[in-house]
Amino acid sequence: MAVKKKKTNKKFSYRMKKTLVAVMLTIAIAFIALIFRVFFLIDQDQDRYKKRVLAQQSYISNEIKYRRGDIVDRNGTTLAISVKVYDAVVSPSEILSDNNENNRDYTIKTVAEFFKIDEEELRTKINERPNSKYMLLEGAKGLSADEKDKFNKLVEESEQAAKEAKPGKKGEGAVTVPPVINGVWFEERFERKYPLSTVACKIIGFVDGDMGNTGIEEYYNDSLSGSNGREYGYYDSELNLQRTVKAPINGDTVISSIDANVQGILEKKVDYYMKEPGAKNVAVMLMDPNNGEVIAMASNGQFDLNNPRDLSAYYTDSEVAVMSNEEKTTALNTMWKNFCISDTYEPGSTFKNFTVAAALDEGTVNANTTFNCEGKTTVADYEIGCANRVAHGIVTPKKALMESCNVALLNMALGLGRDQFYRYMNLYGFGKNTGIDMRGEQKGIIHKKDNLNSTELATSSFGQTQNVTMVQMLSAFCSLINGGKYYQPHVVKEIVNEQGGIVEKMDGKLLRHTVTSQTSDFIKDALLATVKEGTAKPAAVPGYEISGKTGTAEKHEKDSDGKYLVSFIGFVPYDKPQLAIYVIVDEPNVEDQAHSTYATEFASEIMKEILPFLGLYADEDAAGANDEEGEDGDSDNKGPSLDSLIPGDGVVDDDLSDVGTQDGASHNDESQDNESQDSESQDSESQDSTSQDVGSQDDQSSGDSADGQMQDDQV
Ligand SMILES: [Zn+2]
Repeated sequence: MAVKKKKTNKKFSYRMKKTLVAVMLTIAIAFIALIFRVFFLIDQDQDRYKKRVLAQQSYISNEIKYRRGDIVDRNGTTLAISVKVYDAVVSPSEILSDNNENNRDYTIKTVAEFFKIDEEELRTKINERPNSKYMLLEGAKGLSADEKDKFNKLVEESEQAAKEAKPGKKGEGAVTVPPVINGVWFEERFERKYPLSTVACKIIGFVDGDMGNTGIEEYYNDSLSGSNGREYGYYDSELNLQRTVKAPINGDTVISSIDANVQGILEKKVDYYMKEPGAKNVAVMLMDPNNGEVIAMASNGQFDLNNPRDLSAYYTDSEVAVMSNEEKTTALNTMWKNFCISDTYEPGSTFKNFTVAAALDEGTVNANTTFNCEGKTTVADYEIGCANRVAHGIVTPKKALMESCNVALLNMALGLGRDQFYRYMNLYGFGKNTGIDMRGEQKGIIHKKDNLNSTELATSSFGQTQNVTMVQMLSAFCSLINGGKYYQPHVVKEIVNEQGGIVEKMDGKLLRHTVTSQTSDFIKDALLATVKEGTAKPAAVPGYEISGKTGTAEKHEKDSDGKYLVSFIGFVPYDKPQLAIYVIVDEPNVEDQAHSTYATEFASEIMKEILPFLGLYADEDAAGANDEEGEDGDSDNKGPSLDSLIPGDGVVDDDLSDVGTQDGASHNDESQDNESQDSESQDSESQDSTSQDVGSQDDQSSGDSADGQMQDDQV
């Protein structure tokens, strides 16, 4: 038995051992696992706790805002920059939960003093929100890093003083502990600043939140924007704070083609002009004819980009106070609008360049072709006058430009015919967007091909009955003087990233060819002669070979008798044009507006001042050359002054020629209905000024309208 038992025991014991070991092992593993689990849970809890603490300290997971890219001018001058600023924040709950009354008082007193906030007001606000952990301090926003650091130093000093004053041992007599500042911190953000304030305001635009509004800020919003980063904070097992930072990607820097210095000068000049003699609109545009870069464009209605909704420069406080939201929006949009791209008008005689170039290019005329101007002519039973009805006699294409002969011009357009004239209008880009890198561009209006009957061809040839924008005119003009290359106009020349690497380069996008280089040379030559000997003499600048063409367009809207838009379009230097300039004075505030001199003199004054800034220096030897060659001995290259200008004083003003056509155009007005306008391409301003004139252009499909009705209207 015993043996058996023993044997059994022995056998059992062996099995038992095995099982026991297995069981014990299992239990042990389970136990270890349990211990791990418990520790893990504790640890997780601690982690949660830590996270909560961190969250309370607000640095567990912070978004790091990207910095919006800068906008700089062609010389690197900062036009727009994002600066880090700080807003002071208080936690009423933290301040009030401090049992030490001295600390509470000291905190409120220090905050009020430092940020110059009314102490009682602050105390009330804090007491009103005892549970709030976050209260932005009005009056302590947009602080510099310096101001923030100064305040934080006060906080540190108070803590240090309190620490040092603490009694070393209990019961060692009463020690007064200085109060500490609690519950105040700073939030950082970027603020957009425009160091030049009003300069180039209509080109740069501004920012609403993260979105650009108008100008480069709007058009290049995607490039200027970046993406936010994030900062994570956690405690490691040693209870050290570990930080992980996913850096933000800052926005790219946009380099404008604008010269801020020259732009500033233009704006001042425009301002002066608006004051004396004054005008409805004054606008100037400068372009590099070799690549379409806009170097400056200024028009009246400046505003401070740092405060773009401030209408106080144009309205009194009481006027603003009674404005409806709609009225205010309209007023702001008017102020922000860029005349150079958003306003359309009849250009007048500056347009003649395009007609002459088209006729030469097509070969329907050559340099020696002559026209006989008898001071007036008849087109479709309609009398059109020339140069105040003084006959020009035999006129070549060159002389037609120099003396702005309507009769020669309309004959050139008639010679070209409907198809070719229309083709060139398209090549020059009239009636469509230039594609300039700004929003708000208007297309203007040209006659539809089917509507280009002889009367329309005639009036169009010298820039009437069609509407253009300044940027259209100047871009097309640049192609006339650079050998025929039409570049897309643009205000931004390069985009670079934060590291300075080039993201995009806008070197000058060649869109198409307009005229041959021979035609281009002819136009340049004729326009040099126009300033030296023709109608544009007041544009001359001593020491420079200025070339260009004047324009005076009588306006045809209601109640516009005697109202004119005068202009000058030109370039310098003659041999290799580096700068094209276009000046518009819309309704100069003078008795007799019909003198392009108001624009030509102004152009001269501008060029004289800005050319050296653009690296174009006067040739001392040639200074006064323009004067010497003046055929009528007018030695005053400045021409008559704005104040003294009177008709018939020897200044040949081409635009008196336009007066002769006025009859025709005004009858035109009445013969055409308004519904045919291309509403899409017209802004309200241009409708005012042109609705009657251009009414027939878009949708009148049959030719029976304009001519026939005009005959009826003809007096
Ligand atoms: Zn003539």
